[in-house]
Amino acid sequence: MASKYQAPRGTFDVLPEQARTRARVEGAAAAILARAGYEPIATPTFEDTELFERGVGRSTDIVRKEMFTFEDKGERSLTLRPEGTAPICRAYLEHGMHKLAQPVKLSYVGPFFRHERPQAGRYRQFHQIGLEAIGTDSPLADAEAIMLLSDLLGELGVPGVELRLGSLGSLDSRAAYLEELKAHLHAHEGELSKDVRERIDVNPLRAFDSDDEGTRGVMASAPTIVAGLEGEDAEHFAEVRALLDAAGTSYVIDPTLVRGIDYYTRTIFSFVCDALGAQSEIGGGGRYDGLIEQLGGPATPAVGWAAGIERILLALDEEEQPAGRDAFVAIADPDQRQRAMALAVELRHAGLSAEIDLAGRGLKGQLKHADRLGARRVLILEADGSAQLRDMKTGVQRAADTGNLVDEMTGGET
Ligand code: AMP
Repeated sequence: MASKYQAPRGTFDVLPEQARTRARVEGAAAAILARAGYEPIATPTFEDTELFERGVGRSTDIVRKEMFTFEDKGERSLTLRPEGTAPICRAYLEHGMHKLAQPVKLSYVGPFFRHERPQAGRYRQFHQIGLEAIGTDSPLADAEAIMLLSDLLGELGVPGVELRLGSLGSLDSRAAYLEELKAHLHAHEGELSKDVRERIDVNPLRAFDSDDEGTRGVMASAPTIVAGLEGEDAEHFAEVRALLDAAGTSYVIDPTLVRGIDYYTRTIFSFVCDALGAQSEIGGGGRYDGLIEQLGGPATPAVGWAAGIERILLALDEEEQPAGRDAFVAIADPDQRQRAMALAVELRHAGLSAEIDLAGRGLKGQLKHADRLGARRVLILEADGSAQLRDMKTGVQRAADTGNLVDEMTGGET
């Protein structure tokens, strides 16, 4: 019965079986983040395009190729949000959150949009859970953020997770390093892929991410920023590592780690999962000490991460079993319809799950349907006003007192 309409390329429907695991993931995240004092925030699904151009960076793939940008009727350029950090920083400034006690600790969950080539684990509409700690440069905030994502993946039971850790240095040392890297790339221009060559001066860090063999050869001998970290940058990185060590959070230092967004400074990290194929990153983030200033606010250090819900689900590869029903109220005679509905409502108000037949089935059909739904008990309303309670597991049936329905339903075996 397929219609000619399908979900757009790179998007998907969340069907009830998947929605249950999704709800478990979101519930676990909400609980873990709330216990650490990260308060939920929600920003609009679209923003002024310029926010992302300035925030994410004009040289990034996201801004160059992947944004869903459109004009509204007032000819303003708007973009479906490709990430959550720039909008949250916008909200932080717009609502004067810099006047609150710092840091402001926020969490979010919702859909994001990138016009990428769809494949397993990579979609055009996907969902992220994320957090931001804005207004602190303490390595404690970096370590706390990392540990919270580690806790979440651990609690959910995501298998085969590895934490990769790197540092990009402060804005100044990062700028000096980028010059050094550009010089290295220019010296080997002939061996680089066209894409990397064309972007040496705009985004040299992306060369570390290239799959091209020639480029990989050049990058094997490229200078890394981790090796050259000095002063406060080196101290910050050492402190983050010491905090993770003390907490028993294991990680590997990856001097070639880069991220696809321009705003990162100092700590960056990535959680990868070997159960996932090419799109192996489950979540990642880092410090972005320059972003708020870049958006016109006061200099405000911050750190955060985002994790992809679909990637978590792929890594878990499980479907939650349907919850079943506490009760099904069946009728032996159509005259009992009103009573069935009233009794089902009474059960629901008492906190039990209860269904009635909405499809006009005969009694046999209703019992079959109740079984299919996983109903533990069926209340059968007879034409003479009496009622029977049937335990679906044992098949035992006995007379029931509908005046005392909730007790009947929550009692022991029938
Ligand atoms: P990013 O915002 O690029 O740092 O990505 C953070 C996380 O979001 C990644 O680790 C993925 O889990 C997820 N993610 C990013 N892009 C996509 C996509 N196109 N489809 C599905 N998940 C994505």
